[in-house]
Amino acid sequence: MTVHIYTPGRDDRPADVIVSETKLFRENLPLLLEKADVIINTPRYFFCTFDSAFIPLMFIHGGMIPLGILSLLWQQGKLKAICEFCGGEVYIYGLGGSPLSGSHSARGCCKDCARYNKVIVDHFPDLWKPLIEAIQAYPNEEIIEKGERPIFSWSQGLVGNTTPDKVSKAKVEAVSLAEIIKDLQGNFC
Ligand SMILES: [Zn+2]
Repeated sequence: MTVHIYTPGRDDRPADVIVSETKLFRENLPLLLEKADVIINTPRYFFCTFDSAFIPLMFIHGGMIPLGILSLLWQQGKLKAICEFCGGEVYIYGLGGSPLSGSHSARGCCKDCARYNKVIVDHFPDLWKPLIEAIQAYPNEEIIEKGERPIFSWSQGLVGNTTPDKVSKAKVEAVSLAEIIKDLQGNFC
């Protein structure tokens, strides 16, 4: 029997780390877009989660959104809006609002002026659905082969062996956004 585990959680790192990642993301968005193929094809980059790239936990499937998922959807022309300051391209990287209040918004950063945009979303499933589908299609999961367990029988008691579970495919250890940017700025990619 194989058990799939995928638990996207909220980022629980200190606030100053999160704030500095926001700055890093905004300043390096053009580089991240230019190197999208490298991010998509490198698992330790693909599964990087950062700062405000999350879906609120109030939503079903709420949790952090991996950078690779965002890169894939941006390449497909999804999760984009028009900058309210300069008319440039805004790349959406997080969702806001509440399923209870029905108010929906998204966080985005403009590639051209690097300013933060709060995008009001009229038709929320247009953003939410492709994100959830991509997250489900590219899970960062552990596959655990369950070991044997004895079975109880009325006539014979416990029958069979106990063998340990084993992890057959380890979860990818993603690197931080700062490390990715350092790699991309160098000549490693
Ligand atoms: Zn702009």
